[in-house]
Amino acid sequence: MAAYELIDHEYDVVVVGAGGSGLRAALGAAQQGLKVACVTKVFPTRSHTVAAQGGISASLGNMGEDSWQWHMYDTVKGSDWLGDQDAIEYLVRNAPKAVYELEHWGVPFSRTEEGKIYQRAFGGMTRNFGEGPVQRTCAAADRTGHAILHTLYGQSVRREVKFFVEYFALDLIMQDGACTGVTALQLDTGQMHQFRAKMVVLATGGYGRAYFSATSAHTCTGDGNAMVLRAGLPLQDMEFVQFHPTGIYGAGCLITEGARGEGGYLTNSEGERFMERYAPTVKDLAPRDMVSRSMTIEIREGRGVGPNKDHIFLHLDHLDPKILHQRLPGISESAKIFAGVDVTKEPIPVLPTVHYNMGGIPTNYHGEVLTLRDGNPDSVVPGLMAVGEAACVSVHGANRLGSNSLTDLVVFGRAVGLRCGEVVDKASAVPSASKAQTDEHLARLDRFRNASGSTPTAKLRLEMQRAMQSDAAVFRTGKTLDEGVQKLRSIDAAGSDIKTTDRGLIWNTDLIETLEYDNLIAQALVTIEGAANRTESRGAHAREDFPDRDDVNWMKHTLAWKRPGEGVQIDYRPVHKYTMSKDIEYIEPKARVY
Ligand SMILES: Cc1cc2nc3c(=O)[nH]c(=O)nc-3n(C[C@H](O)[C@H](O)[C@H](O)COP(=O)(O)OP(=O)(O)OC[C@H]3O[C@@H](n4cnc5c(N)ncnc54)[C@H](O)[C@@H]3O)c2cc1C
Repeated sequence: MAAYELIDHEYDVVVVGAGGSGLRAALGAAQQGLKVACVTKVFPTRSHTVAAQGGISASLGNMGEDSWQWHMYDTVKGSDWLGDQDAIEYLVRNAPKAVYELEHWGVPFSRTEEGKIYQRAFGGMTRNFGEGPVQRTCAAADRTGHAILHTLYGQSVRREVKFFVEYFALDLIMQDGACTGVTALQLDTGQMHQFRAKMVVLATGGYGRAYFSATSAHTCTGDGNAMVLRAGLPLQDMEFVQFHPTGIYGAGCLITEGARGEGGYLTNSEGERFMERYAPTVKDLAPRDMVSRSMTIEIREGRGVGPNKDHIFLHLDHLDPKILHQRLPGISESAKIFAGVDVTKEPIPVLPTVHYNMGGIPTNYHGEVLTLRDGNPDSVVPGLMAVGEAACVSVHGANRLGSNSLTDLVVFGRAVGLRCGEVVDKASAVPSASKAQTDEHLARLDRFRNASGSTPTAKLRLEMQRAMQSDAAVFRTGKTLDEGVQKLRSIDAAGSDIKTTDRGLIWNTDLIETLEYDNLIAQALVTIEGAANRTESRGAHAREDFPDRDDVNWMKHTLAWKRPGEGVQIDYRPVHKYTMSKDIEYIEPKARVY
């Protein structure tokens, strides 16, 4: 191996990732008087959070009566009873506080006539325990994530968080079961770094790019999740992948659910508003898993639109163009650019598209990473936290409700900051790092940098993305999943013959894409093997051969391990069926009728 020199850094807290969750966590830890670094592979305001359109949920009650109890009920029901109810209670009770905090820091929310924060309707958000839609989603037009990310970045700079921009984190430094830091490659110079820390927070986002068509950025490769797998720790509930009903047909870009929240609706080739049949009460505002399945059934039964009858129409053309201009300017532009459609006159062609990963790094509601140790499934991994889409708290369970992710980022980002204040001792020494271990991280990088096989990364990546798209789709069966598992195992094995061409270290995108592919394939495997293993239908995981939810055998989280060179191993963790307080004791499972 070539000799690499490691530049050493010491911090109280190192946050990997500068999306909404990473910035809120870094800012929160800095507010506790801790010395904080934030390491990010893209410039902070280019993180995927910038693309969030529709809004952030909180029961402010600005547009009619609302309560956290109703929000909690909807989130538990939306999660198809896989969400941990203590964490869900923490989320919904802290949501209003977290949104007002954003407002005071400068997020330019849209306003009501009276000057309050504007709220729109979103799927699965209901009044009085399921009676009908409620307006709970706070919005800054259809650029809510953009507004939040820029505000949080400004506030983090103000709090003197030290940013390491365009640094690619490689692996976790672990000692006796505790995390003590992270290694990283500086992209523009090729220099290697080790960040030693008392607490490492992974805020690296989702892994939508394991699929061929996704609404997420090309940078969403779940690097933190893969680092956790390589460290011998499990990921949770990875089989639950959300398809958003309205990705633009062909391009995959998102049309926010807020479009339906503002009155948009879906039609099939007969011009029928078919959601009225599937969800008579909430219609087009049913949860995403349900709308995606209904669209897929319409297409399968020959009622899709277009020459190949392979997509669906989303209508906004009946809405007042002034409202479209004011509340949905971004998606009006996207529809023009990516579908050539003027939304005031024509429907938008749409198709369910991979959008969100419910699964990720298991944590409690303080953000502390959990593992199964000595029979205890809630055993905390010292020195390691996770937050945002990378984490599985689990508030979204088997299916996330739209606008609950931005809430998750800021509520649990804040919780991580507060917890760091409690558990990180400012006076103690920063732990040391073992050279043998950082050498292993560098050896992995060196192997890919000099990989001289015959299969280019792009070929393996495409094969993986196509296999996931066809075999771990909206509907799944044992047969397609088993085929998918075989395909992905052989794609994974073909990694030993991988080929890179750029041997340099300065802006080596060939190397970075290869490291990202290696991260993705491990997650693709735990996703599809988890899906093949779960013989029931719950939330986003819809098995045609097991169409019912099975609460007797399957109301439990999947934990999946995949150590380098080994296969996937699966175990379980019980769902937290208790709450934090006695206001609501427990929300009982029942059928999901909307
Ligand atoms: C198009 C779109 C629209 C959405 N709209 C909404 C919405 O309206 N409401 C809602 O609630 N949710 C929405 N979501 C979901 C939500 O936006 C995301 O789940 C959320 O923004 C993820 O935030 P995050 O902080 O976890 O990660 P991200 O914002 O994805 O940021 C990840 C960060 O990790 C860093 N990183 C990753 N790997 C490495 C590495 N190896 N080394 C260093 N840094 C690394 C990146 O640089 C980046 O800063 C939307 C998602 C998409 C894709």
